[in-house]
Amino acid sequence: MSQSETAPVAENESQPVEAQPNSVASSRSAEANDSPAAVEQLIPSRSGLRGKVVIITGAGAGIGRATALRFAEEGARIAAWDISDKAAPQLVSAIQWAGGEADYRTVNVTDGGEVELAAQAVVERWKRIDVLINNAGIVRDAQLVKWNGGGPESVMSEELWDSVIDVNLKGVFLTTRAVVPHMIKGGGGVVLSAASVVAILGNFGQTNYVASKAGIIGMTRTWARELGKYKIRVNAVAPGFIATDMVRAMPERVLRAMVARTPLGRVGTPEDVANTYVWLASDQASFIHGAVISVDGGVVLGT
Ligand code: NAD
Repeated sequence: MSQSETAPVAENESQPVEAQPNSVASSRSAEANDSPAAVEQLIPSRSGLRGKVVIITGAGAGIGRATALRFAEEGARIAAWDISDKAAPQLVSAIQWAGGEADYRTVNVTDGGEVELAAQAVVERWKRIDVLINNAGIVRDAQLVKWNGGGPESVMSEELWDSVIDVNLKGVFLTTRAVVPHMIKGGGGVVLSAASVVAILGNFGQTNYVASKAGIIGMTRTWARELGKYKIRVNAVAPGFIATDMVRAMPERVLRAMVARTPLGRVGTPEDVANTYVWLASDQASFIHGAVISVDGGVVLGT
């Protein structure tokens, strides 16, 4: 059975994939595929995203993975970048099944050279870059100073600070810097980045993470001013508590407290955020620029 005839496979099941150093690539056509999505390929896309080239960082898990699949449903071509290649075969297969084309590449967003080469490879393959989703992010929590009786029991180390700032803030800077020249050459584009509700509210034990996400809001507003004249729209999304591994790792007590602080009374799903990215990248959001869109069930209201 050819890959185009297969349904998404289990995480560890091996898939035949085109062998390329550092990259797992695939292509499909409506004629060659009998998936439900093949029919959709024949109908004009309302979002205007069919055939658009979309880079998603941290696409291997959680919100990034869900976002890759939503863009695939719109018929987009997905450059899925992640530091880990664990999810590659399964994600490529799932993107194809949903109606997209996929190119999975191991990219560490903290490595400027690697990011430049990966952006170049996308342009060599698909001739352009239309959308960048800066999604890759990590948490490494610690209190600034944990006080115990007469002295500090522990502090947030420089290593913890640097690791989170490197991925969440510098990674967004490096990736956007690598991609924007290609968008300018192509006549425009959309840059979307993952901020967080905690950038607005602050959060206990997250000095590094909150600083990185607040920085993303600042960069978004700066780039909106700098890049609007090139028809590049720049926006950020500020998710609340979203049910990914990042949140699932928390104790039930903490999770219950989060839900209690959320007026809609539930945590969000990765698809809640993915839908927002798709809308922001679509023609329907063509006048949205320099905005920070909360996707948080109302938690930002501060209940
Ligand atoms: P996740 O941990 O489930 O997935 C993150 C992905 O990023 C992983 O696949 C990981 O391998 C990849 N990654 C990590 N470091 C990388 C690097 N240096 N280069 C490339 N890829 C790297 O996270 P998630 O919960 O899906 O969160 C996605 C984004 O949304 C993050 O930026 C996060 O800060 C933000 N966010 C999440 C929540 C939430 O509640 N889950 C809330 C607000 C904001």
